[in-house]
Amino acid sequence: MSAETLLQKVKRYHSESFECIKKALEIDENQNGKKEDALMWYDKGISMLEKGINVPKMGASLDDKTKIIRIQTKMMKNLQMAKERQDCLNAKSSTSESVLSKPTRPHSGPPAAKEPKPGPSSTSIRSKPSSGVLIPKSTATSRARSNIASGKPAVSASRTSNRTPNRPSSAESKINHSQIPESTSKSRLRSKQFKSVSSEMANKIIDAALIEKSVKFDDIAGQEAAKEALKEIVIYPVLRPDLFMGLRSPAKGLLLFGPPGNGKTLLAKAVAGEADATFFNISAATLTSKWVGEGEKMVKALFAVAREVQPSIVFIDEIDSLLRARQENDSDAARKIQTEFFLQFDGVGTDPNDRILVMGATNRPQELDDAALRRFPKRIYVRLPDAQTREHLFKMLLSKLENSLSPADIHKLSKMCDNYSFSDLTDLAKDAAMGPIRELPRDVMMTIEASKMRKINLNDFTKSLHKIRPSVDVSLLRTYEQWNNKHGDTSS
Ligand code: ATP
Ligand code: MG
Repeated sequence: MSAETLLQKVKRYHSESFECIKKALEIDENQNGKKEDALMWYDKGISMLEKGINVPKMGASLDDKTKIIRIQTKMMKNLQMAKERQDCLNAKSSTSESVLSKPTRPHSGPPAAKEPKPGPSSTSIRSKPSSGVLIPKSTATSRARSNIASGKPAVSASRTSNRTPNRPSSAESKINHSQIPESTSKSRLRSKQFKSVSSEMANKIIDAALIEKSVKFDDIAGQEAAKEALKEIVIYPVLRPDLFMGLRSPAKGLLLFGPPGNGKTLLAKAVAGEADATFFNISAATLTSKWVGEGEKMVKALFAVAREVQPSIVFIDEIDSLLRARQENDSDAARKIQTEFFLQFDGVGTDPNDRILVMGATNRPQELDDAALRRFPKRIYVRLPDAQTREHLFKMLLSKLENSLSPADIHKLSKMCDNYSFSDLTDLAKDAAMGPIRELPRDVMMTIEASKMRKINLNDFTKSLHKIRPSVDVSLLRTYEQWNNKHGDTSS
């Protein structure tokens, strides 16, 4: 067996620590969970994190080194938050003296070489006197979760409506649920008894309906028309159901369409992040392949669960593969899933009090037939960015990195990127950001202080423009425009 590389080692510690902290959080958030058990899992997780953070980078290839640094940075954040949470639990327990009687739990791993910011929040229980006098912290699990940077998309159907004073919306807006093992609401949903669907099925749906609550509308450059339409259909009616009644009832189906890489999935995630509704995110591929032979039942279960926890949003990404006009050679299973989907979808509109929205996204709207289109009366074109939006995106991207581009440079650059999609532009910026690194001799790169690096400049971008080309064909763009003129919402 070949020896484990440094990168593999870091990844292993990362995923092992992730599992431990996930378990800890589950117990921590469960009212009946034993806090000692949660503390034990936090301990294990912290130990793994410390080991992972201490894995040396020297000796790894350049590529691996970058990845190691990225993972270790996440692990440092996790470490800080796990410790905060642990301290908080210990502080709580100390009042009941249940933990005070326990010896300070040892950490098996070496202390982290580089603690995150040394501040009160990263003070570990180890640094407390053995008397067990713990300083209580007000950190709530939600906050800890918000910072658990696992990098794994792992949040399921989540309800954001039940905000308590401990979870103000401003705090929630910072929550990066993509980095959270599970949400409280997921545990709550899992323990719920559903009337019309077995717990087993419901849990499958809850587990598979992963969402990332990390995205906000402000994180998305441009797409103003799409954002406004989404707010009108999704956000406002949930906030003011009394206003959005009768003729003002929001559409039951909304389709985001457009060329790849312009934010359809991102917009849906922003809806998940901003709407006070339970958000189910299932890709058509999951429905058709993950539950081979069961897809039809899962569609039924999905809607049953959505109905019982409304207001809810069912988002089906790449919906063309589920709803495209059926072909001769399609499997029976695919047909059945489609039929069930239509059946369930139509059921949504029957009760006027239903607050369920079905959202779909596709970069192949041409493949949807009339039967599918009819169900999505609101169709929003998510288009390529214009020069002004490109400028805005560059500013957003560059704000995260030292650079020497003047506003005039950014303006000039934006003019050079006709037909680049948002993701092309993001790739372009990533490539340009590598410019100053690429010109360094390897030995210098290994030792140079980050603050001494040359700043990215316009020249880095112009060089990258030769490498990163627009991914969407111009003729294809015309097809989208035509489809939009024929079927889309052209009001804006
Ligand atoms: P596809 O049709 O291939 O599914 P999509 O339209 O769903 O593509 P996304 O997955 O949402 O595209 O976007 C891909 C990536 O491009 C995002 O993760 C993000 O980095 C970047 N991106 C896309 N749109 C925007 C935007 N409007 N603002 C900022 N970044 C964006
Ligand atoms: Mg997408």
